[in-house]
Amino acid sequence: MYYKQYGNTDMMVSAVGLGTMRYDHEDIKAGRFSKCAEIPLYAFEKGINYWDTAPFYCDDKSEIVTGIALSQVKRSDVYVTSKVNFNTLGTANPTRDDFRRRLETSLERLKTDYIDFYHMWCMLNLDSWEKHMEQLYCFFEEAKAEGLIRNIVFSSHMQGNDIETVVDTGKFQGMLIGYNALNYRFRQSGIEAAHANGMGVVVMNPLGGGMIPENPEVFQYLTEGTDLTVPQAALRFVASHKEITITLAGCTTKEHVDDAVKAVENLEEMPAKDVVKKYESKGISLNNLCTGCGYCVKGCPKGVAIPKFMDSYNQYILTDRKKEILTRLDMHWNLEKDLAGECIACGKCEKSCTQHLPIIERLKEISSI
Ligand code: SF4
Ligand code: SF4
Repeated sequence: MYYKQYGNTDMMVSAVGLGTMRYDHEDIKAGRFSKCAEIPLYAFEKGINYWDTAPFYCDDKSEIVTGIALSQVKRSDVYVTSKVNFNTLGTANPTRDDFRRRLETSLERLKTDYIDFYHMWCMLNLDSWEKHMEQLYCFFEEAKAEGLIRNIVFSSHMQGNDIETVVDTGKFQGMLIGYNALNYRFRQSGIEAAHANGMGVVVMNPLGGGMIPENPEVFQYLTEGTDLTVPQAALRFVASHKEITITLAGCTTKEHVDDAVKAVENLEEMPAKDVVKKYESKGISLNNLCTGCGYCVKGCPKGVAIPKFMDSYNQYILTDRKKEILTRLDMHWNLEKDLAGECIACGKCEKSCTQHLPIIERLKEISSI
């Protein structure tokens, strides 16, 4: 296993971490938790020492399963995470006691008296992050002072420049973000800023929500010069970024663990800009995709969220299913398709589009679905 240092800490963590949201569904349903716990134990055997869990994963059983495994290894040999935010407590205005109960439940389920990385979970944008900072951050600090959590981290779906704003506060030891061969342009400046500020960077969704393995011909270029499969190569693409500490792999079977381990064998780390250069020189088939570079946004007189709409249109190009645009807008960006109709076709964005995309035409198409 290849290990990296987690930010400015002295923790050495495996380049792939175990994502625990994919324990076998049938086993979970049938209550065969010990059987599911064989996965983290096998991952541990293979050198994976970072296990990422949360309430609600796997019908709210992931922490329980992960705790069964955690109780069977030396506690200090594994780094375990969990998460909390305003939307996970079942009440519109959660109090400090509600947060405390949630943390105590996570500790109890994980059969431990501390969590190594506790996430301020799923900050969708700067507004939601600010609200959490005002009302939740001091709870995290108290929990840390008590020794219940070791490191305060956040997880986010923000874009690069918003992530930079959060990173600049210096309030977090690390972050968890989605990053992959499809969306790297959106997040690259964010991971660079976090790394430069001594934070650990953990990546979820390295397979683009299944989009990459479902379109192997499009992403075949990632495997060039290797004996890796497309999903393995997509993991390696992420893990080879010097700025990224851990790439999470969601594993249902021991074969999935083996795949993830193989993906980082003899890993060579490179700065993000070099990784991108290396792969972009091969990725000619992606020319009609928006890369999320963001160059188009600045001059838009109507403030249209062009990269988000174009990212959603990517899903259509990759799958040939138009409804995927709407799913992406709704589930990932929380955007109404009708906002695409606010474009007045001034053409400014198309002049600055690095991919020379027909943005106006695509926006029109999206608003009329
Ligand atoms: S063409 Fe439309 S989306 Fe592009 S800058 Fe003009 S108004 Fe904005
Ligand atoms: S400039 Fe083009 S490629 Fe870059 S984000 Fe905008 S639409 Fe996408």
